[in-house]
Amino acid sequence: MAEYLIAGNSVAAVSAIQAIRERDKEGRITVISPEPYTAYCRPLITYVLAGDVEEWRLPYKRESFYQQNKVEVLYNVKLDGVDVSERTAYLSDGKKVAFDKLLLAVGGKPFIPPIEGIDGPDVYTFTTIADMKALAGRLEDIKKVVVIGAGMIGMKTAEALAKRDKEVVIVELMDRILPMVLDKEGSSFAEKALDRAGISYVLGDSVVGVGRDASGKVRRVELKSGAKIECDAVVVAVGVRPNTTPVEGSGIEVNKGIIVDDMMETNVEGVYAAGDCAESYDIILGQKRPNLVWPIAYRHGLIAGANMAGGRRRFVGGFPINSIGFFGFQVVSAGMSAVGEDEEASIEVLKFIDESKGVYRKVVIANNRLLGFCVIGDIRRAGLYTGLIWSRMDVSYFKELLVEHISLPEAIYPIDGALPAMNFSDRKNIRRFGWAVFPYSYRKLFTGYSARIEEICAFDDKGVCFYDGADDEG
Ligand SMILES: Cc1cc2nc3c(=O)[nH]c(=O)nc-3n(C[C@H](O)[C@H](O)[C@H](O)COP(=O)(O)OP(=O)(O)OC[C@H]3O[C@@H](n4cnc5c(N)ncnc54)[C@H](O)[C@@H]3O)c2cc1C
Repeated sequence: MAEYLIAGNSVAAVSAIQAIRERDKEGRITVISPEPYTAYCRPLITYVLAGDVEEWRLPYKRESFYQQNKVEVLYNVKLDGVDVSERTAYLSDGKKVAFDKLLLAVGGKPFIPPIEGIDGPDVYTFTTIADMKALAGRLEDIKKVVVIGAGMIGMKTAEALAKRDKEVVIVELMDRILPMVLDKEGSSFAEKALDRAGISYVLGDSVVGVGRDASGKVRRVELKSGAKIECDAVVVAVGVRPNTTPVEGSGIEVNKGIIVDDMMETNVEGVYAAGDCAESYDIILGQKRPNLVWPIAYRHGLIAGANMAGGRRRFVGGFPINSIGFFGFQVVSAGMSAVGEDEEASIEVLKFIDESKGVYRKVVIANNRLLGFCVIGDIRRAGLYTGLIWSRMDVSYFKELLVEHISLPEAIYPIDGALPAMNFSDRKNIRRFGWAVFPYSYRKLFTGYSARIEEICAFDDKGVCFYDGADDEG
């Protein structure tokens, strides 16, 4: 009977458990969980702080999931190290666990910049339930908070704190909000939403010191520009990095994240990595890198789990996709969305802007392929753009239509004849090209075909069929 050991108990671990059990009903599965909870929906923790979501809604797997899948979870214990030659894991409680197959699904770690005075009370990160509870437990004593970082976690935490009637100041090193997603023009839409909500922000400056009183309480932060902001708490949200600490010195290769092949296996046979801790292929950059988003962690876990149990699944690649909303501002983006037209000669940026309606659409194209997009206000085309990125399709003959303000079917039907010659009834073509665009009524063409086609195609109410990035069964 195989001994599967999984370090981590979040989305990558859960999908791995499901994939293992599809192939191996009997092997022993042990999960190591430093946190005392069943797998929970990490993106919801800011909503719990805000009071919009009740805490009982956080778990997305309950004890019954582990029981039904015959999984033993060791709570409140973490993986401290791995002896790959002895095939043994060292746990923080001093115990050793032998394994045949090991999955590292240990997620990411918030980055804490070296700022004077940052160590000590009243300074928080925000990536776990424990972080959320620590801040929630102090809310009565807090009047004003400085949030360092205007990325996704910083903005969501700032919104939650504002909803709890705290005065919030966001400080961002770059010259814009959501700097990984928005360019300066896109950021102006987010800035307007902050202005409307009465939230202060400082762009293009950084916190260089946290000032404390004699008792050690936070009283202010000092900025590089020399400005000082009075506050009684600081949230550090300057980024999350792959957690590679548990494998340090083990011989398991690490770059920015744990290095894996396209079967999610590390350089050590039988040791896999999945989720935020691992690097994987980015189809836009054409290279491996950490890609710290939930859907990719889920796909990683499915592939690693299947292969741990004897399968041969491959990760075909991915790219960052984000849907973020705060203070009434809503943006969906994917791939290289923040890049500006003047950054590289090979890059073409097309935009549609209607300030009065708060609508902003931007696509980034290079070599006639869509490399990224960003939509604000009207987010209906996000699916179409995502499909075009997946397909690597030549968009040169209809690129202007992509951002123009006409409805989607109109944008597609007139160029019907110019679509790549493709027999919609041939499933191999769908697989090769990865996508198709056709009127909704064409849907019936596909009924009667195998489940595989159903899996690859997703129909929406516009009649657009997208490749969903299904990973190769090999
Ligand atoms: C506030 C917030 C909002 C987010 N919003 C979004 C969003 O809107 N969309 C999106 O796509 N993504 C979002 N993310 C990112 C998303 O949550 C992660 O990409 C996803 O959770 C990664 O899953 P994972 O399984 O790799 O690891 P994680 O969810 O990070 O979990 C890691 C697991 O490993 C455990 N662990 C850590 N160290 C050890 C150790 N030494 N030994 C054993 N176990 C260990 C942890 O306890 C945990 O169980 C958000 C993240 C945060 C924090």
